[in-house]
Amino acid sequence: MTNATPFDGHALSDATRAFLAQPHRLLIGGQWVEGSAGTRTTRDPATGLALAEVQMGGAAEIDRAVAAARRAFAGPWRRMAAAERIALMQRLARILHDNARLLAELDVIDNGMPMFIAELTVANNVEMIDYYAGAILRIEGTTMAPPRHIAAAGEALTYSLREPVGVAGQIVPWNVPLSTAILKLAPALAAGCTVVMKPSEETPLSALALGQMILDAGFPDGVVNIVNGLGADAGAALAEHPGVDKISFTGSTATGRRIVQAALGNLKKVSLELGGKSPVVVMPDADLEIAIPGVAMATFFLQGQNCMAGTRIFVHQDIHDAFVEGLVAFAGGMALGHGLAPGTMLGPMISDAHTAKVMGHIEGAKAAGAVLVAGGRKLDRPGNFIEPTIFTATTPDMAVVREEIFGPVMAVRSFGGADLDAIAALANDTPYGLSGSVWTRDLSTAHRLVSRIRAGQVSINCHGAVGTNVPFGGFGQSGWGREFGQEGLDAYLETKAVTARL
Ligand code: NAD
Repeated sequence: MTNATPFDGHALSDATRAFLAQPHRLLIGGQWVEGSAGTRTTRDPATGLALAEVQMGGAAEIDRAVAAARRAFAGPWRRMAAAERIALMQRLARILHDNARLLAELDVIDNGMPMFIAELTVANNVEMIDYYAGAILRIEGTTMAPPRHIAAAGEALTYSLREPVGVAGQIVPWNVPLSTAILKLAPALAAGCTVVMKPSEETPLSALALGQMILDAGFPDGVVNIVNGLGADAGAALAEHPGVDKISFTGSTATGRRIVQAALGNLKKVSLELGGKSPVVVMPDADLEIAIPGVAMATFFLQGQNCMAGTRIFVHQDIHDAFVEGLVAFAGGMALGHGLAPGTMLGPMISDAHTAKVMGHIEGAKAAGAVLVAGGRKLDRPGNFIEPTIFTATTPDMAVVREEIFGPVMAVRSFGGADLDAIAALANDTPYGLSGSVWTRDLSTAHRLVSRIRAGQVSINCHGAVGTNVPFGGFGQSGWGREFGQEGLDAYLETKAVTARL
């Protein structure tokens, strides 16, 4: 980490510099408070330089935050008219919009993502809050025939109400920090829940800026509480807290299992968005002009620190060599650098530990006999930059094919023939099922393959097509439930059936 200059010499906006100079505390009950678990230095992963000292909370702060959320749920938030809740959410969306540069810069310097991704995600976040604000007036039950033992028709009224699930605990990962916070927060607030959020200890800054914006928008105290802290400490305390009615978690499958265990005590509702090892199938008639950059970005977007990453590439043998040649050329042209530098396509890995894990996978793949055709090295410069890496001749038993690496590592394998069941069997040979894509000019083939691939999201001639209104989640060990769209809102609602004998 020698010779690093702050932000590689790129300037931050005044707003971001002012934010970094502030104290970074916990938001509990409408107040910024100190944490009892010390402080943690958050760093720019592109340079290793310290950004800020952030207060850390533990079980005590989670307890206080849950109590504040329960009070807000029982009180002002529960009684607030829908129109007022809509106005608050719309105000929050405008504040995010007006502070887009600050929020984008915070995710760039805290997470390492390139600016083009940070700008895209902030725009999506504004849209997401507006979308769920707009959904509030469409939260509605139904009427139905009364049970026959209660009364004759016309003598009773039976209907359903949709009510908020209560206090929602939300545990957020580091890979797209602001987006994963907003895509949990917006539907919870629209449903009428109150929230205790725990950001990732690796990337707390944008969530803390969001906390101030929630105060500025005028949400009642305790509706949103933000407790930064370690996963095993604050995160575990939130997952097992008996005062939490629902836990929404995005992170690794291993931590997801711990969340389920922790939730058993009060049988809180659980939503899980977990890992993936998504398949990409390239048929012999694929349009290579689109498929080569599209498949490269399926793996390398967010430097592979992306749950949807398409990392198992199955290419028909007729085009394998030309396709790989195109991928290698594309990877070689990707600009690695600081996320603030214009033109950066790939940023650094989040941490030293994660870099060591990714490099271990690269060495392991070589040792297992996969053929390295691009990248494979960590750059000799400050920060944890790993070249976009492509292996061919991979086999189903290799760890590079089986395990989620969460780095810029692609495993290519060729296949022959046109038996769609056999091709889908290759794609489905994984315990995960988050995403996938099919590349072909033949739409019949595409849809036949889509129907055979076991994943929550399958795209044709594109990859990772997430959208505010499009349900997203996993089959298999990629999770429980869906976020985004109407299903994302349903996840924060209970149904109450009412019968009135007249
Ligand atoms: P992680 O599981 O290490 O951490 C996620 C969050 O859980 C963090 O806030 C962490 O502090 C907290 N945590 C850790 N241990 C905990 C515990 N015992 N109890 C409660 N909370 C705990 O995951 P990560 O490394 O931050 O993120 C990478 C993983 O997230 C990848 O596996 C990726 O696929 C997955 N991910 C999934 C999606 C999706 O939508 N499916 C989206 C983004 C990331």
